[in-house]
Order: sequence, then C-alpha cells, then structure tokens
Amino acid sequence: MSTPAIELRDLSRHFRVRSGLFGAPRHVVAVDGVSFAVPAGGVLGVVGESGCGKSTLARVILGLLPPTSGEVLVDGQRLAAMDRRARARLIQPVFQDPFSSLNPRRRVRDIVALPLVAQGGFAQSEIRSRVDEVLGRVGLDPAMGERLPAQLSGGQRQRVAIARALVLRPRIVVCDEPTSALDVSVQAQILNLLAELRRDLGLTYLFISHNLAVVEHVATEVAVMYLGRIVERRPTEALFAAPEHPYTRALLASVLTPEPGLGIPDVGLGDAMPDPANIPPGCRFHPRCPAAIARCRSEAPLPRRGRDIEVECHLAAVG
Ligand code: SF4
Repeated sequence: MSTPAIELRDLSRHFRVRSGLFGAPRHVVAVDGVSFAVPAGGVLGVVGESGCGKSTLARVILGLLPPTSGEVLVDGQRLAAMDRRARARLIQPVFQDPFSSLNPRRRVRDIVALPLVAQGGFAQSEIRSRVDEVLGRVGLDPAMGERLPAQLSGGQRQRVAIARALVLRPRIVVCDEPTSALDVSVQAQILNLLAELRRDLGLTYLFISHNLAVVEHVATEVAVMYLGRIVERRPTEALFAAPEHPYTRALLASVLTPEPGLGIPDVGLGDAMPDPANIPPGCRFHPRCPAAIARCRSEAPLPRRGRDIEVECHLAAVG
C-alpha cells in the first residue's frame, strides 16, 4: 500500500480553561484519539456540529497547536520533527473568513508572496512570476495584485487566500469552512475552483465543514466527528446512501430542514451539544442517542472496521 499523503495516529488535544477570573480550571478534551489516513489526491471531509473539535483538529494538523499526544505524518514524515518552514512547504491552510485572514494594509501581491518571502532564498523576479502564475491559477487577473483586500469582493478575497496557500506548491491543503462566509452563488464557484486545483495540481485536501451538502459535493471520504472522536468514516457515496452511526443519521436528517444555510440547525436530538469538559461515560453520544441500550451508558464502543467503513457504535453492522 502506498504511503498516505497525511496520516493521524491517535491524535489528542486537551485544554485547561478557566471560566471567569476566579472559576475553577476545567479540562476540555477537544480532540480525543483521532486516527485516519488520506491517500494522495483524496479529500477527507470532516463534519460535525459546532464545538465537536473539528477546528482544533485542523489547527493541530497545521502545527498551529501542539498535540497533547499522538502524531501527524505527511508523506510518512513526522510533522513534529519539521521546522515551521518545512511544514509550510508541505501543508497550508485556507480559513473561513478571507477578510480577517488577509492583512488589510498590504497589497494582494505582497500577501500572496509572503510564504515565499518567509521561506527565503527566492529572487524577486521568481517571486513575481510565481505570484502572477498562482493568481492566474485561481482565476484572478495579475493586475489585481496591486489592490488592497478591501477593494475585492468576498469571493475574490477567498481566491487570494487560496493563492497564498498554493504559492509554495504544498501537497496538502487544510480547508476550514472555506465557503461559510460567502454568498451561496460564490460558494459554488470557490468549490469548483478547489476541485479544479486538486485535479490539476494533485493536491490532497482535509475539508472541514458543518455543511453536509458542501462536503457531499467535494469529499471522496467523510469523517463524522462527535465530542472529539471520529464516530464514522467511509467513502462519501456510501455514507450518504446508508449512514450507520445514529449520529450520522441525525446529521443527514438535519440537511432536510428548510434552512440549509444554517448548516446543522437542529439535529433532532433534543439537547444541545454536550460539554467537552464533561464527556459522558460509556458511549459519549448515549445521552442523545435514540437507539441507546443499557450497555451504552457504561461501555465506550470500540471502532468496528469493515471494508470501507469504520464506526464506533455497539449496534453497528459493518459486514
Ligand atoms: Fe447509540 Fe449506543 Fe451506538 Fe452509542 S453505542 S451510538 S449510544 S447505540
């Protein structure tokens, strides 16, 4: 089997947080023993409600937060053993809000060139030609390089953020809600651009979103995250055709609500997302699970693996 483009091995990230100045510290388990591998050219969509840990997962993978335990490998190399510049050559982010992620006082050309400048060793002429090339790739006229972010539309700003992510020609792009801040009509354009870039440049994406329709459109495989764990992971078509985990089924049912723009407004499970500082014993989903049995309250389900499926539920049929 070929080496995965990106692999997570039992990755966890915990925080100690204080509510208020004098509140007792709380131990928050944001990411809890996550393992998966994405082949080169694949798109793993990570979905879950707000607060499930998916953005923390993105930040650990990008090296913006150290893991509490476990490791990330890119092309078989440990990310923790690389310095920041080596990491930046392999893996780059595209975040949700292109306005706040772009320096408003710098011209587009300088924003896109920044990763090259930070690497060092590039001649001015090469920086210029690589910036022009990547602006063209994301569908922007190189003349736009002279503008400031405020002079661009939301879609154009996200194209600039994508150009900046690609200028070092990375292998992997971590897209964290890359279209959530955009108008619906612009969202489709950006998703099509990302798909085209993946095809043309052989990129691998980790695509984090609360919007299942978006994930269904772009991902080759989907990981469903709940309270820091991946509870179901399988190829996109199979997951949407026959979800196995009760939580996945609830998420898919929520897509049929009349307000798709709100992502997952009501997963039909009653209570709001439980507290990651107070994870329930047994199966962490049991307080909300319509299928829970007595065993679920005391025994955490181990991952069950079948052909093209991994699911954490005592009742799962994995064939
Ligand atoms: Fe529901 Fe039990 Fe399965 Fe957890 S293990 S998802 S509580 S049926």
